[in-house]
Amino acid sequence: MNNSILVFSDLDGTLLDHHTYSFSAAVPTLSKLAERDIPVIPTTSKTYSELKQIRKDLGLHTPFIVENGAAIFIPVGFFTNQPQGTIEKNGFWIKEFSKPVTYWRSLLDQLKTDFDGKFNHFANMSTTEIVDATGLSDAQAQLAGAREYGEPILWLSDQDTKIEFLNALEKLGAKPLQGGRFLHLSGECDKGKALIWLTELFESTHSETKYTSIALGDGQNDVAMLNAADIAVRILSPVNEPPTLTKENEVYTTKRFGPEGWADSLNQIIFNC
Ligand SMILES: [Mg+2]
Repeated sequence: MNNSILVFSDLDGTLLDHHTYSFSAAVPTLSKLAERDIPVIPTTSKTYSELKQIRKDLGLHTPFIVENGAAIFIPVGFFTNQPQGTIEKNGFWIKEFSKPVTYWRSLLDQLKTDFDGKFNHFANMSTTEIVDATGLSDAQAQLAGAREYGEPILWLSDQDTKIEFLNALEKLGAKPLQGGRFLHLSGECDKGKALIWLTELFESTHSETKYTSIALGDGQNDVAMLNAADIAVRILSPVNEPPTLTKENEVYTTKRFGPEGWADSLNQIIFNC
């Protein structure tokens, strides 16, 4: 039996700096992982459109998980055969876990009277409003707006009303997830389910290899992924407390923020330095 590692990494606030979106501190570690043939699998709330550019910037040719686990994109040919349950589109084998975004937007429309002015959401926001809420550039904000599966909601009111709003959404069958800046509205999918599905796919296609999954994340929308991984790394965040996990063993919390903490932890766990 061979042993191998899969790295599932959140992007915003984890591999990318929360404020500047820079990943320069992680570059030497990304190179070492590539040399060792250890896949880094971006696992993010971001869209396919955003990932197209970010993968280029990061130099990654690996599968990736978008919109908080709503879909897994696997480059065609990454595995010998097309995995069961995937569709082929734009050079990717895609495993979808969510209904399309139009469905979730229709649920929000039902709550607009009861929660008038208390929230905004991407389909309703101009590029400028998305820029203001995220700190992204105009071009990046346009890509972020190209949702296929889930809808980010910007909460504008108090915490008590937010709980009523979350309850109302759950009654409609939605499973809202809190990210660093946005509430993400989608179906019964999360980063943890996607991690498990993809790890099982690696194991079924490489039957002689035992995979250890390492997940890294800084926010509430990373909890399912961190709990599901063999090793969980909570990346220190400048804006929120480390997420609370049910997993007890093999849980690490970095001392530094974002990509610095990302590099520190993987260097320690994988490269013993
Ligand atoms: Mg994050």
